Amino acid sequence: MSKFIALIPAAGSGSRMGHELPKQYLSLNNKPMIYHAINTLWQSRLITRILVILAPGDLEWFKYDWSQFSEKLTVLNCGGITRAESVLNGLIAAKQKDLVQSNDWILVHDAARPCLTSIQLENLIKELAEDEVGGLLAVPVADTLKRSNASHRIIQTESRESLWQAQTPQMFRYDLLTQALHNAANANITDDASAIEALGLHPRLVLSDAYNFKVTYPQDLALAELILQERNNL
Ligand code: C5P
Repeated sequence: MSKFIALIPAAGSGSRMGHELPKQYLSLNNKPMIYHAINTLWQSRLITRILVILAPGDLEWFKYDWSQFSEKLTVLNCGGITRAESVLNGLIAAKQKDLVQSNDWILVHDAARPCLTSIQLENLIKELAEDEVGGLLAVPVADTLKRSNASHRIIQTESRESLWQAQTPQMFRYDLLTQALHNAANANITDDASAIEALGLHPRLVLSDAYNFKVTYPQDLALAELILQERNNL
Protein backbone atom coordinates (compact mmCIF):
# COMPACT_ATOMS: atom_id res chain seq x y z
CA MET A 1 0.00 0.00 0.00
CA SER A 2 1.29 3.46 -0.90
CA LYS A 3 1.88 5.73 2.08
CA PHE A 4 1.42 9.48 2.27
CA ILE A 5 4.64 11.24 3.30
CA ALA A 6 5.03 14.98 3.77
CA LEU A 7 8.28 16.70 2.84
CA ILE A 8 8.91 20.27 3.95
CA PRO A 9 11.84 22.02 2.25
CA ALA A 10 13.07 24.47 4.88
CA ALA A 11 16.55 25.36 3.74
CA GLY A 12 15.78 28.81 2.33
CA SER A 13 17.12 32.07 3.67
CA GLY A 14 13.92 34.07 3.13
CA SER A 15 15.82 37.13 1.96
CA ARG A 16 12.63 38.98 0.88
CA MET A 17 11.54 39.15 4.52
CA GLY A 18 14.55 41.35 5.35
CA HIS A 19 15.43 39.38 8.52
CA GLU A 20 18.68 37.75 9.63
CA LEU A 21 16.71 34.74 10.82
CA PRO A 22 15.48 32.45 7.98
CA LYS A 23 11.74 32.99 7.64
CA GLN A 24 10.76 29.46 8.69
CA TYR A 25 11.94 30.42 12.18
CA LEU A 26 10.27 33.83 12.46
CA SER A 27 7.93 33.95 15.42
CA LEU A 28 4.27 33.38 14.57
CA ASN A 29 1.88 33.06 17.53
CA ASN A 30 4.85 32.34 19.81
CA LYS A 31 6.08 29.46 17.66
CA PRO A 32 8.59 29.32 14.79
CA MET A 33 6.64 29.64 11.55
CA ILE A 34 7.43 26.09 10.39
CA TYR A 35 5.73 24.69 13.51
CA HIS A 36 2.28 25.50 12.11
CA ALA A 37 2.76 23.57 8.85
CA ILE A 38 4.24 20.61 10.71
CA ASN A 39 1.33 20.63 13.16
CA THR A 40 -1.34 20.52 10.43
CA LEU A 41 0.46 17.72 8.58
CA TRP A 42 1.05 15.82 11.83
CA GLN A 43 -2.64 15.96 12.72
CA SER A 44 -3.60 14.11 9.54
CA ARG A 45 -4.06 10.41 10.22
CA LEU A 46 -3.24 9.67 6.57
CA ILE A 47 0.25 11.19 6.75
CA THR A 48 2.59 8.65 8.28
CA ARG A 49 5.83 10.64 8.20
CA ILE A 50 6.98 14.25 7.95
CA LEU A 51 10.44 14.91 6.51
CA VAL A 52 11.91 18.36 7.19
CA ILE A 53 14.83 19.35 4.96
CA LEU A 54 17.17 21.83 6.60
CA ALA A 55 20.27 23.60 5.31
CA PRO A 56 23.47 21.79 6.29
CA GLY A 57 24.77 23.43 9.45
CA ASP A 58 21.37 24.85 10.47
CA LEU A 59 21.54 24.96 14.27
CA GLU A 60 18.44 27.13 14.77
CA TRP A 61 16.13 24.10 14.50
CA PHE A 62 17.62 22.53 17.61
CA LYS A 63 16.76 25.55 19.77
CA TYR A 64 13.10 24.49 19.85
CA ASP A 65 11.30 21.53 21.38
CA TRP A 66 9.81 19.29 18.69
CA SER A 67 9.17 16.28 20.96
CA GLN A 68 5.37 16.55 20.66
CA PHE A 69 5.69 15.33 17.04
CA SER A 70 7.72 12.27 18.19
CA GLU A 71 8.73 9.58 15.69
CA LYS A 72 6.52 10.87 12.89
CA LEU A 73 9.00 13.74 12.32
CA THR A 74 12.41 13.19 10.67
CA VAL A 75 14.94 15.95 10.09
CA LEU A 76 17.45 15.74 7.23
CA ASN A 77 20.25 18.32 6.99
CA CYS A 78 20.70 18.09 3.23
CA GLY A 79 19.12 21.26 1.80
CA GLY A 80 20.49 22.66 -1.46
CA ILE A 81 20.99 26.01 -3.14
CA THR A 82 17.49 26.06 -4.66
CA ARG A 83 14.13 24.78 -3.39
CA ALA A 84 14.13 22.09 -6.09
CA GLU A 85 17.58 20.93 -5.00
CA SER A 86 16.45 20.80 -1.36
CA VAL A 87 13.46 18.64 -2.31
CA LEU A 88 15.55 16.31 -4.49
CA ASN A 89 18.29 15.94 -1.86
CA GLY A 90 15.62 15.17 0.73
CA LEU A 91 14.01 12.52 -1.49
CA ILE A 92 17.35 10.82 -2.13
CA ALA A 93 18.37 10.89 1.56
CA ALA A 94 14.98 9.53 2.66
CA LYS A 95 15.30 6.56 0.26
CA GLN A 96 18.84 5.86 1.46
CA LYS A 97 17.52 5.73 5.02
CA ASP A 98 14.66 3.46 3.96
CA LEU A 99 12.04 6.00 5.02
CA VAL A 100 10.13 5.93 1.71
CA GLN A 101 9.18 3.46 -1.01
CA SER A 102 9.09 4.09 -4.78
CA ASN A 103 5.31 4.11 -4.94
CA ASP A 104 4.63 6.33 -1.91
CA TRP A 105 2.91 9.67 -2.36
CA ILE A 106 5.13 12.63 -1.42
CA LEU A 107 3.36 15.83 -0.36
CA VAL A 108 5.84 18.68 -0.69
CA HIS A 109 4.76 21.64 1.44
CA ASP A 110 6.48 25.01 1.92
CA ALA A 111 7.54 25.83 5.46
CA ALA A 112 6.29 29.32 4.70
CA ARG A 113 2.61 28.33 4.29
CA PRO A 114 1.57 28.19 7.96
CA CYS A 115 -2.18 28.60 7.36
CA LEU A 116 -2.82 25.33 5.50
CA THR A 117 -5.96 23.74 6.95
CA SER A 118 -6.69 20.06 7.62
CA ILE A 119 -9.70 20.36 5.28
CA GLN A 120 -7.54 21.58 2.38
CA LEU A 121 -5.03 18.80 3.06
CA GLU A 122 -7.66 16.07 3.21
CA ASN A 123 -9.35 17.38 0.09
CA LEU A 124 -6.05 17.26 -1.83
CA ILE A 125 -5.38 13.67 -0.78
CA LYS A 126 -8.95 12.57 -1.52
CA GLU A 127 -8.92 14.15 -5.00
CA LEU A 128 -5.52 12.77 -6.02
CA ALA A 129 -5.09 9.42 -4.28
CA GLU A 130 -6.20 7.56 -7.44
CA ASP A 131 -4.70 10.03 -9.93
CA GLU A 132 -2.20 8.86 -12.55
CA VAL A 133 -0.01 11.95 -12.30
CA GLY A 134 -0.71 13.82 -9.05
CA GLY A 135 -1.28 17.52 -8.53
CA LEU A 136 -1.42 20.45 -6.18
CA LEU A 137 -3.56 22.94 -4.31
CA ALA A 138 -4.17 26.11 -6.31
CA VAL A 139 -6.49 29.11 -6.60
CA PRO A 140 -7.84 30.76 -9.76
CA VAL A 141 -6.25 34.18 -10.34
CA ALA A 142 -8.63 36.92 -9.17
CA ASP A 143 -6.79 40.13 -10.05
CA THR A 144 -6.24 41.64 -13.50
CA LEU A 145 -2.71 40.82 -14.62
CA LYS A 146 -0.38 43.44 -16.09
CA ARG A 147 2.96 42.84 -17.82
CA SER A 148 5.42 45.69 -17.27
CA ASN A 149 8.63 47.00 -18.79
CA ALA A 150 11.76 47.74 -16.74
CA SER A 151 10.39 51.15 -15.65
CA HIS A 152 7.15 49.65 -14.30
CA ARG A 153 4.98 50.87 -17.18
CA ILE A 154 2.33 48.50 -18.50
CA ILE A 155 3.13 47.01 -21.85
CA GLN A 156 0.27 44.52 -21.89
CA THR A 157 -2.77 43.27 -19.96
CA GLU A 158 -2.77 39.48 -19.75
CA SER A 159 -5.94 37.44 -19.79
CA ARG A 160 -6.50 35.75 -16.44
CA GLU A 161 -8.76 33.12 -17.95
CA SER A 162 -7.62 29.62 -16.96
CA LEU A 163 -4.76 31.03 -14.87
CA TRP A 164 -4.18 29.64 -11.38
CA GLN A 165 -1.79 30.45 -8.55
CA ALA A 166 0.09 27.33 -7.52
CA GLN A 167 0.25 26.57 -3.80
CA THR A 168 1.48 23.60 -1.80
CA PRO A 169 1.18 20.75 -0.85
CA GLN A 170 2.14 19.41 -4.26
CA MET A 171 1.56 15.67 -4.34
CA PHE A 172 3.40 13.22 -6.60
CA ARG A 173 4.62 9.64 -6.34
CA TYR A 174 8.22 9.23 -5.13
CA ASP A 175 9.72 7.77 -8.32
CA LEU A 176 8.03 10.22 -10.68
CA LEU A 177 8.95 13.26 -8.59
CA THR A 178 12.57 12.15 -8.14
CA GLN A 179 12.97 11.49 -11.85
CA ALA A 180 11.34 14.83 -12.75
CA LEU A 181 13.56 16.82 -10.38
CA HIS A 182 16.67 15.02 -11.68
CA ASN A 183 15.74 15.92 -15.23
CA ALA A 184 14.99 19.54 -14.30
CA ALA A 185 18.20 19.92 -12.28
CA ASN A 186 19.50 22.89 -14.25
CA ALA A 187 16.15 24.49 -15.05
CA ASN A 188 15.02 27.51 -13.08
CA ILE A 189 11.88 25.99 -11.52
CA THR A 190 10.12 27.28 -8.42
CA ASP A 191 7.76 24.39 -7.73
CA ASP A 192 7.56 20.62 -8.07
CA ALA A 193 4.74 20.60 -10.61
CA SER A 194 6.97 22.46 -13.13
CA ALA A 195 9.39 19.54 -13.10
CA ILE A 196 6.51 17.10 -13.73
CA GLU A 197 5.19 19.33 -16.53
CA ALA A 198 8.64 19.26 -18.16
CA LEU A 199 8.13 15.49 -18.60
CA GLY A 200 5.05 16.27 -20.71
CA LEU A 201 2.59 15.37 -17.93
CA HIS A 202 -0.35 17.43 -16.70
CA PRO A 203 -0.68 17.67 -12.89
CA ARG A 204 -4.21 18.29 -11.59
CA LEU A 205 -5.19 21.57 -9.91
CA VAL A 206 -7.23 21.05 -6.74
CA LEU A 207 -9.21 24.10 -5.63
CA SER A 208 -7.84 25.75 -2.49
CA ASP A 209 -8.32 29.26 -1.11
CA ALA A 210 -6.33 32.38 -0.36
CA TYR A 211 -5.77 31.44 3.31
CA ASN A 212 -3.04 29.04 2.23
CA PHE A 213 -0.80 31.90 1.06
CA LYS A 214 2.99 31.93 1.24
CA VAL A 215 4.53 34.26 3.81
CA THR A 216 6.99 36.20 1.68
CA TYR A 217 6.98 39.87 2.73
CA PRO A 218 6.92 41.35 6.27
CA GLN A 219 3.21 42.29 6.11
CA ASP A 220 2.33 38.64 5.35
CA LEU A 221 3.49 37.68 8.82
CA ALA A 222 0.91 39.93 10.50
CA LEU A 223 -1.84 38.53 8.27
CA ALA A 224 -0.87 34.93 9.07
CA GLU A 225 -0.89 35.78 12.77
CA LEU A 226 -4.43 37.16 12.56
CA ILE A 227 -5.69 34.09 10.71
CA LEU A 228 -4.14 31.64 13.17
CA GLN A 229 -5.34 33.63 16.19
CA GLU A 230 -8.87 33.71 14.85
CA ARG A 231 -8.80 29.91 14.35
CA ASN A 232 -7.53 29.39 17.90
CA ASN A 233 -10.41 31.49 19.23
CA LEU A 234 -13.07 29.42 17.47
O1 C5P B 1 11.93 31.31 -1.01
P1 C5P B 1 10.59 30.66 -1.17
O2 C5P B 1 9.52 31.35 -0.40
O3 C5P B 1 10.20 30.37 -2.57
O4 C5P B 1 10.77 29.21 -0.47
C1 C5P B 1 9.75 28.24 -0.49
C2 C5P B 1 10.17 27.07 0.40
O5 C5P B 1 11.34 26.46 -0.12
C3 C5P B 1 10.51 27.51 1.84
O6 C5P B 1 9.97 26.53 2.72
C4 C5P B 1 12.03 27.52 1.84
O7 C5P B 1 12.61 27.28 3.10
C5 C5P B 1 12.34 26.38 0.88
N1 C5P B 1 13.69 26.47 0.27
C6 C5P B 1 14.60 25.42 0.47
N2 C5P B 1 15.87 25.51 -0.06
C7 C5P B 1 16.24 26.59 -0.76
C8 C5P B 1 15.32 27.65 -1.00
C9 C5P B 1 14.03 27.56 -0.46
O8 C5P B 1 14.28 24.44 1.14
N3 C5P B 1 17.48 26.65 -1.23
